Amino acid sequence: MEFYTGKSEEDDAKYLLSYINDVLIPASEEFFVLVNQNKVLLHHAFSFNTILSHAIDYMIFIAKKVTKSSSNSSVIRRNDFISKFDKKYHVDGCSHINNKFKLLDAVNNSFKHVELEQKRYADLIKVYGDLNFHNLFAEDGKVFFKSQLYSFDYCRVVMRPIAKIFDCDINTYNDVDDFINGRIHGSFGYGNFPYEYEPYDAIDRMIDFCNSECKNCGEVDDDCDCVNYIYGQKLGKCSPNIDPSFDFNDVMSDISGAREWRKK
Ligand SMILES: [Zn+2]
Repeated sequence: MEFYTGKSEEDDAKYLLSYINDVLIPASEEFFVLVNQNKVLLHHAFSFNTILSHAIDYMIFIAKKVTKSSSNSSVIRRNDFISKFDKKYHVDGCSHINNKFKLLDAVNNSFKHVELEQKRYADLIKVYGDLNFHNLFAEDGKVFFKSQLYSFDYCRVVMRPIAKIFDCDINTYNDVDDFINGRIHGSFGYGNFPYEYEPYDAIDRMIDFCNSECKNCGEVDDDCDCVNYIYGQKLGKCSPNIDPSFDFNDVMSDISGAREWRKK
């Protein structure tokens, strides 16, 4: 299901395009450098969270305007719009936090206001407990989300996959409606393995297997500290992005076969 099928106004679309390409993407590049080097401070996390939330507000503005002027669709409500985002964009990454956009929005609002509007975020408060500005805190170059029942790296688990969604090279006025409706979006591509399963791609498959990054945090091997995360009743663990068809012995035999072949 799409939010709307009509077209947004050109000026509004250009506004969003400019915001994404001139503000969000450069901020995102900076954010990934800080995250990858474990140099994130609290103000970096809140700044980037605000920038991402702002883009969502622009998208809601456009969707509301289009649906208001259309006789075929009812005007979209903000809460419904955000609730549908996670599904619409197929946000990959950590499966324990299935409401990444909603959480991002709630964190943004708890940062903006001294008191969060309890009614508006009732379902999130039920899951995460009271939400306020102190849910995020920095430690050793990482910024964590912590509440009574939850503890995880907020930058890697929530903002990293959301930021990736915006990274899909949207450049034209037409792209904007496709993007808002989730027809185009960026992704880490977890779970997609474009191999031909022939001996010639065995080395690539082995390299990918040995370097598979954790879907929750994007780290590899010892750098992943998902085992220390807590998601309500569940404890975190490393979830490497491994091809389910990978068979170590088969791939090894293809690799040694290729070597034998080269010797001849
Ligand atoms: Zn991890």
